[in-house]
Amino acid sequence: MPEGLIAVQGCRKCGRCNNICSTGALERIDGYSRINNELCELCMKCVIKCPNKALRLIE
Ligand code: SF4
Ligand code: SF4
Repeated sequence: MPEGLIAVQGCRKCGRCNNICSTGALERIDGYSRINNELCELCMKCVIKCPNKALRLIE
């Protein structure tokens, strides 16, 4: 397990993080993003991409 977790809060379903994750950790459910932290490698690509700061690293 990596140190830290990516948490999602305030996702606005904009879709910009779609397909950016190469590990399959970023899931979309009814348009909202959700992170499977067991698959997440904390590359931060989704965090950087989100214009709403809905994805955050929790250390
Ligand atoms: S931090 Fe990287 S590995 Fe984790 S969900 Fe975002 S894009 Fe995927
Ligand atoms: S980029 Fe951010 S606001 Fe847009 S769908 Fe992804 S997590 Fe939600």
